[in-house]
Amino acid sequence: MSMTFVEKLLSNYAGEKNVVPGQIVTVHPDHLLTHDNTAAIIKKIEPELKKYGVFSKSLPIIVLDHVIPAASEKTSTNHKVIREFVKTHNIENFFDVGIGVCHQVVIEKGLGLPGKLLLGSDSHTCSYGAVGAFSSGIDRTEAASLMLTGETWLKVPDSIKIMLNGILKFGVYAKDVVLHIVGDISASGANYCSVEYHGDIDQFSIADRFTIANMGIEMGAKNSVFFVDAVTEIFLDSIGVSSSSYNPIFPDRDASYLQELEYDLSEIVPMIACPHTVDNVKPVAEISGLEIQQCLIGTCTNGRLSDLKVVADILKGKQVNSNVRLLILPASKDILEKALKAGIIETLIKSGGVLLPPGCGPCLGAHQGILAPGERCLSTANRNFKGRMGCKDAEIYLASPATVAASAIYGKIIDPREVMK
Ligand code: SF4
Repeated sequence: MSMTFVEKLLSNYAGEKNVVPGQIVTVHPDHLLTHDNTAAIIKKIEPELKKYGVFSKSLPIIVLDHVIPAASEKTSTNHKVIREFVKTHNIENFFDVGIGVCHQVVIEKGLGLPGKLLLGSDSHTCSYGAVGAFSSGIDRTEAASLMLTGETWLKVPDSIKIMLNGILKFGVYAKDVVLHIVGDISASGANYCSVEYHGDIDQFSIADRFTIANMGIEMGAKNSVFFVDAVTEIFLDSIGVSSSSYNPIFPDRDASYLQELEYDLSEIVPMIACPHTVDNVKPVAEISGLEIQQCLIGTCTNGRLSDLKVVADILKGKQVNSNVRLLILPASKDILEKALKAGIIETLIKSGGVLLPPGCGPCLGAHQGILAPGERCLSTANRNFKGRMGCKDAEIYLASPATVAASAIYGKIIDPREVMK
């Protein structure tokens, strides 16, 4: 029987010869990711934890990233509770304040690998499809139960095949591709589906694939995945992961899909998601000239070295507009160190950027760069819901790092190709 990626992977984990969409399977994931919300999760199972402990000390991956450094007594107390939990249960994979955004850390540390199954109490857990893993978000109650038992159930998703054909034009990036797709199929267009990317994929780095997989949830997908190729192998080798430590999974050629979509990459232009939904997408040129007060470069969507480099190349020798605050948020300490070494951070700061510690920063609206009523922020993040950056009377626009950098110079939204040419 021919199978898609997700059908093959879940049949492996369920110990079944084959599975079909809609079937419920019981699985033992390789890892469970939690972040600052670990405190709330372990609170749900306090008595059971005392009696039985965690299922396995290698199952959880805990990263403090959402509100770091702690912004209040409440958050610092939560962090303290989590550190005590980590010590008591000898949790192997714990990353304290300053290491980075959880999803970046999972990939960087080689914890999300091809053919593996990871679940996490964060909706952007779908990011690890960038390296050929099945990964998906679950809620906190499910995460609590998984922490104790090591087991959970999944409904086998239908699969959608997306063909990306052709070559991206100058000034157009992976973020524009995924915004274009979300705008086309809508925020619910891939609801509970496994999205597979096929076609001319070798032009996309792992950082690009991460950006696209990360936003799978913005089209409702259960997971989204790129298949292992030379780009993946070189990346994994660069972080010390040998090919003998993973088993890539590929769909069968004649696997059956709920839907097959095709995009000509050469026709895609810089795109922007307008308030207040991620699928309210337009070409950047259509809203050119709209004034902005804050720009954000970073988050798990676009805080990687290649993103910071694009921004530095555009800003070099120029100044951020005096009406704009440009916040720079490397996705991890490792990225920050590399950007420092390459002189990227110096360029960004000299141009007027404000450097924030590696983490989620203002993305979730809890601290660092909360917007005022009536303000507009142009961000490289993945969500622009009303109130997302802490103020329900502010507007958030989402675009590529190039669009954000170019617009920061003018204080107005602008197609980056106008600055880059
Ligand atoms: Fe969530 Fe934003 Fe943090 Fe990513 S950077 S994990 S989207 S809060």
